[in-house]
Amino acid sequence: PVPLLRVHLLKLGGAQHVLLLTLHHIISDGWSTGVLVREMAALYQGFHDGRPTALPALPVQYADHAAWQRSWLHGDVLEQQVSWWRQHLAGAPTQLELPTGTPRASVPAAQASRIPLRLPRELGHAVEALARKEGATPFMVLLAAYQLLLSRYTGQDDLLVGTPIAGRRFSELEGLIGFFVNTLVLRARPGATASFRELLAQVRDGALGAFEHQDVPFEKLVEELHPERDLDRTPLFQAFFVLQNLPVEALTLPSLTLRPFGEELAAPSKFELSLNLSDTPDGLQGVLQYRAARVSKATATGLARHFQVLLESLVARPDQALHALTLLTPEERQRMLVDWNDTAREPVREGTFHHLFEQQVARTPDAPAVRFEDEVLTFTQLNAKSNQLAHALRACGVGPEVRVALCFERSVQMVVALLGVLKAGGAYVPLDPAWPFQRRSFAIQDSAARVVLTPARLAAELEASGLQTPCLDAAGEHLASEPTHDPAPWAGPDNLAYVIYTSGSTGTPKGVMVQHRSVLNLHAALKRTVYEAQPSGLRVSVNAPLAFDGSVKQVVQLLDGHCLCIVPDALRQDAEAMVPWVREARVDVLDCTPSLLRLLLQAGLLDGDFAPALLVPGGEALDEATWATLAASTRTRTFNVYGPTECTVDATAFAVRPRTQPTLGGPLLNVRTYVLDAHQQPVPVGVAGELFIAGAGLARGYLGQPARTAEHFVPNPFATTPGERMYRTGDKARWSEDGTLEYLGRIDFQVKLRGLRIELGEIEALLRQHPAVAQALVLVREDVPGNARLVAYVVPSTRAPDAVELRAFLQQDAARVHGARRLCDAGRPTPDAQRQGGQEGAARARSPGARPRSPPSRDRGEARGALGRRAARAHRRRAG
Ligand code: AMP
Ligand code: MG
Repeated sequence: PVPLLRVHLLKLGGAQHVLLLTLHHIISDGWSTGVLVREMAALYQGFHDGRPTALPALPVQYADHAAWQRSWLHGDVLEQQVSWWRQHLAGAPTQLELPTGTPRASVPAAQASRIPLRLPRELGHAVEALARKEGATPFMVLLAAYQLLLSRYTGQDDLLVGTPIAGRRFSELEGLIGFFVNTLVLRARPGATASFRELLAQVRDGALGAFEHQDVPFEKLVEELHPERDLDRTPLFQAFFVLQNLPVEALTLPSLTLRPFGEELAAPSKFELSLNLSDTPDGLQGVLQYRAARVSKATATGLARHFQVLLESLVARPDQALHALTLLTPEERQRMLVDWNDTAREPVREGTFHHLFEQQVARTPDAPAVRFEDEVLTFTQLNAKSNQLAHALRACGVGPEVRVALCFERSVQMVVALLGVLKAGGAYVPLDPAWPFQRRSFAIQDSAARVVLTPARLAAELEASGLQTPCLDAAGEHLASEPTHDPAPWAGPDNLAYVIYTSGSTGTPKGVMVQHRSVLNLHAALKRTVYEAQPSGLRVSVNAPLAFDGSVKQVVQLLDGHCLCIVPDALRQDAEAMVPWVREARVDVLDCTPSLLRLLLQAGLLDGDFAPALLVPGGEALDEATWATLAASTRTRTFNVYGPTECTVDATAFAVRPRTQPTLGGPLLNVRTYVLDAHQQPVPVGVAGELFIAGAGLARGYLGQPARTAEHFVPNPFATTPGERMYRTGDKARWSEDGTLEYLGRIDFQVKLRGLRIELGEIEALLRQHPAVAQALVLVREDVPGNARLVAYVVPSTRAPDAVELRAFLQQDAARVHGARRLCDAGRPTPDAQRQGGQEGAARARSPGARPRSPPSRDRGEARGALGRRAARAHRRRAG
């Protein structure tokens, strides 16, 4: 049996002693300690004076109290008390999701660490003054501030904190040693209040109610509410708050000097976090105690510091909007907003992609520029072919801001087409031939493409469907008569380079408009960071389809004389076959999603005689195991790159190296990143927020969708140039102490499936259009590891529709949902597609933001060659 009381007197030598008292909590509490010390002092004094002291007799014993409590606290009395608690705590989250930082893994689970806290004396007075003014107590002010702090750190608008209460409501109990203390659970809902004054009123009312119903023992409350239990955490709350406001009496005994001992020794902590303050003559002092196994020292230090900053700002401005009360010190703001975003190492280059390409042609005319299977084009050849196409496109009316759709299977032709469109001055709109037919036709119409560049075989399908945009075979001999010289420059840095479609949560995909200057900045940024130490003339694989913006970061490598090696389609799904191809083609730079990279590593990518010098995975989170494998390689350098299409491919990068954890790194050249809360205020280091991106990479917006654009590209409150915008990514992230960003997932329902960006809402919206579906929910499930799938759940409205029927329904409308392709097979043309043929294209071809330069010297009206004939045919059909 464990003794309830253990006493040791250690003689340290001379007249130094340590008296150790070990009491089980079941027989004592904080109050009891005071009683015990007082009584021991009286007895000691008596012994010292040689006159035995009798302590006054106690009016009741603990057992009397226990018997009384049992006879009183049951039936209606208990029910009345418990029902108050039930109501007070209804719907409150019982888990506090504190950011943990990187806690030390080796410490015992419950071991506590402490951060001392000393608040200036004036701050204590200000707390008291505010309390008095608001009819509250300092306890309530401090508790409300603590809860607000926790709300900021967790992003929770509703949270619970525990606090002890002495539980000696009758004077007869005051002299007893025993376990009377109880724990009260106090709720705060900062989200429901506008100012600190309102929050304080809410906390005060809650606390007064809790004091009134303090007789329900905490364990009884847990029993009654039976919250979901987690054995590693205390039930109902994980953060604790104590305000000691009874000054501890100084103990003086004859010929003895007494000092408390061992308070700083490692002791277990019952709670993940506990703020213990005392009101001392020198001001509010105490410790923030935390479980070192769960919370990092940096996080705890931040909490302690921010408690003070927050308290200072709220006593000064209790009526200010709650979200405007700052947590950060000016130094912290400077570090996050300015120092970590100090990326303007060189100005954003003026110019266009194709113009820089032409300069590179002059530098390395005979070097290979693009390679696919046995076909190779040199820079000169690639330039000549794309010039011929560009001249033909100009004749067709293509110029700045005019969109041209590209639909190619993998070939050197797709690169010719891309350059041809840019050289004509236009913007390319890549379509994937693997998309369902209707998605392709949607993009053609939504982008108001003037022309579709596509091989004859794919053109036939589009034309047969009644699509009225003229198609042009970009490889036809009709181009042979076109001149091969560079067309006169027309587009400028602010003109569109491309429009890439991504999934849209409201039911239709959205076209992201990217300008030349953003593409050039991406090139400069990659050159500085990723390609920094690399020689020229590398073989750079093009694995991503053009319809994924990942391809852009490969294609821009042409500007440095690198050669594009196009990965054949058959290999892209087959890691076992791709690895030998990488070796044979001696690919230096490999581009792929982390999903594919994992398979390639399993297939021995890094193990043979040859391995690529550079890997640039991006598009999804890299897992820790893959990270570690990549970090261990000495031959191959890997960069984890991150960025949404809306910010021109990559916004951040990090060189994977040993002893690092998965991280996004920091912003690239001329890019700025912010981690903000729901009110667009910066959150402290270690605290999760939404990642916002500003700077040179920002897209112009979504084509033809000003409202959606305004919703996602918002004014940048930290801008130094007026009118600057920032893009809200929907990604959850947090800063680390070293200025790198940690990726934490999404705040919405966008997912990545094998690198493919899908808004689950897009598929749900479509499913709900089915007459028999009342509600729909789509999830990504990975029941078989490595085999993630989209799974839809539906609530039927009338009869239960079967899965076959729903699949067929989605298939029909796959036009607008490429995500739905995962639920069904690619669709065939349907009558719907015919109805979608539109004329508005030409009218919308010039968006208001476009500022085309002077027209080219050639006569644009002069329609020639096969393109002209095809266009004319299409025109006749329309007219007929
Ligand atoms: P996309 O527009 O297709 O490039 O998709 C952009 C989204 O992919 C981002 O908003 C992230 O959610 C995710 N993403 C891209 N790169 C990474 C990365 N390196 N780590 C984690 N998530 C990423
Ligand atoms: Mg991307």
